[in-house]
Amino acid sequence: MLLATDLDGTFLAGSAADKERLYELVRAREDIQLVFVTGRGIRSVLTLLEDDILPRPEYIICDVGATVTHLASLVSVEPVQSDIAKLWPGDQVREKLKAVKGLLHQEAQQQYRCSYYYDDATDITTAREIAESLHCDLVLSAGKYLDILPRGVNKGNTLQQLLGVLALPHHDVLVAGDSMNDFSMYEMGFKGVVVGDAEPELLVRTAGMPNVLQAGSSGTGGILEAMAWFPEFGRYL
Ligand SMILES: [Mg+2]
Repeated sequence: MLLATDLDGTFLAGSAADKERLYELVRAREDIQLVFVTGRGIRSVLTLLEDDILPRPEYIICDVGATVTHLASLVSVEPVQSDIAKLWPGDQVREKLKAVKGLLHQEAQQQYRCSYYYDDATDITTAREIAESLHCDLVLSAGKYLDILPRGVNKGNTLQQLLGVLALPHHDVLVAGDSMNDFSMYEMGFKGVVVGDAEPELLVRTAGMPNVLQAGSSGTGGILEAMAWFPEFGRYL
């Protein structure tokens, strides 16, 4: 199987016992492939991986789906990366969004996307219009993150493209997440788990989706719960 998991609130979360159990399992079983799918930038993920407790993924989809990297070589996965780069309008995104009231630019390293913090005072309508005019998508997540991405680029779509390059079947994949920027992975039809303590909006949007389990346990506990719940993944436990 291939576990494609979000990091914050998902693979990095849960009780100490659940984390230990899942990390050990992923490390021990060569037939579990691991892919991180995160809003973080690659540098921030590489810093996390300096801690040996965390199992090393084969691939890392960062920047909410805008970059995809093979970890061992640190090389971008092609042609997926070039296709995304072609869609990105570049510096004019940040320039034009400077006009929007209440947007705070995130200082983290960002590639092929622009990330901001927002709140109740933010003029989201104007931000959306500007994104639209630049052929970009605007994604809100966790009640505070606002990302501008090339149109159609998201976690789910990039994961799908990666599987295409690897020639891996869709049905062997389990996706895991906890906030709205993970929604595209469930929408793509992958079997998935929304872990406990998820963003309420994500629970509403995934309710009734036959491919999605809404787990009771948070973080890694939710992933373990899903592996037991989906008949095809139980044998990995
Ligand atoms: Mg998360």
